[in-house]
Amino acid sequence: MITKKPFYFSIDFEDFYHDSLRALNVTSPKSKEKALYTSYERIKHICHKYLENKKITFFTTGIVAKKNPELIKQIHNDGHEISCHYYFHDNIRDSNREDFAHNLDLAINEIGNITGEKPLGFRAPNFAIDQHNTWAYEELSKRFLYDSSYRTSLNILELKNQKNFVYKNHMLNEFFIYEMPTIKNIFNIRSGGTFLRLFPSNVIISSMNESYKKGHIPLLYLHPYELTLNHDFWMSLDDLSFLTTFKKFYTYFRQMQWSHLGHNTVENKIKNITKFFIHQGPMKNLVLNT
Ligand SMILES: [Zn+2]
Repeated sequence: MITKKPFYFSIDFEDFYHDSLRALNVTSPKSKEKALYTSYERIKHICHKYLENKKITFFTTGIVAKKNPELIKQIHNDGHEISCHYYFHDNIRDSNREDFAHNLDLAINEIGNITGEKPLGFRAPNFAIDQHNTWAYEELSKRFLYDSSYRTSLNILELKNQKNFVYKNHMLNEFFIYEMPTIKNIFNIRSGGTFLRLFPSNVIISSMNESYKKGHIPLLYLHPYELTLNHDFWMSLDDLSFLTTFKKFYTYFRQMQWSHLGHNTVENKIKNITKFFIHQGPMKNLVLNT
C-alpha cells in the first residue's frame, strides 16, 4: 500500500468574466453570479468524491464577496474557510503600499461582514507580488496569519536562510507556491491552474513530490472558470465590442486558454493525484493546530 503524502486543495474564488473586463479597463463590469454558483456545485462534488468530504480554503476576492454575499455565506456555512484574494483581481506589483493597504482593508471588511470573521490567510492574484516588494509582505503580516503567494523553486532551508518573513513584531507564515524547474529552465511548473489542465497528471504529481521533498507542503489550486464545463465565464464578441477589431478577436480567442483548454481532464487528474496525496482540510489548520 502507498503511504499518501499530505497536500492542501484550495480555490482562488474569483470571477474570470468580471476580472478580464476590468483588466481591459471596463469600469464596473458585470459579474457571472450563476457561473460562480455552478462552480461551487462542482467543487462540492470534488470534495465529496476525492477529498473525503474535508473542507477547503476559498481565497475570495472582495468584489466577488460584495457581489455574491449569499454564495459566500453559504460556502462559509458549509464549513469551508474564506480567505482573502485581494479586493480586485489586480497585480499587486503594479501597486504601492498605501493603495495596497487600502484595498486589503476593503477586502477584509467585505469578507468579514459576511462571515463574521476576519480572514486569516491571503493569496495574491496571479501570485503577482515580486520578491523585492517587501512593503506588500509587511502590510500582509499586519493583517493575516498566513500567506500563500510566494513562488519558489528553492528548498525550504535555503529559503529560510535568505528570508525569514518576520516584519517587526509581525510574523507571516508563508506557504510557498512551489515551481518545478523544467529542463533548461524555460518555465516552471506549478501544481494548479493552467498547468494542471495542460500537463498530464504524472508531471503535476512529480512537481508535488519535488515540492514535498524540498520541505514544502504541496498545494493544489484551481479557479472557478476551470471547474465549469460549459464556458460559463465566457466573454461574447458583444461583451468585447468596445475593442478595436484586432484586439476584439485576439481577446475573444485568447480566453480559450482559461475557459476551454483541458477542462474535461481536470476531474480525472484530481482523482490521479489523490492516489498519492491526501487532502488535509482548510489551510487555516496549518496555523491554528500548531
Ligand atoms: Zn486569482
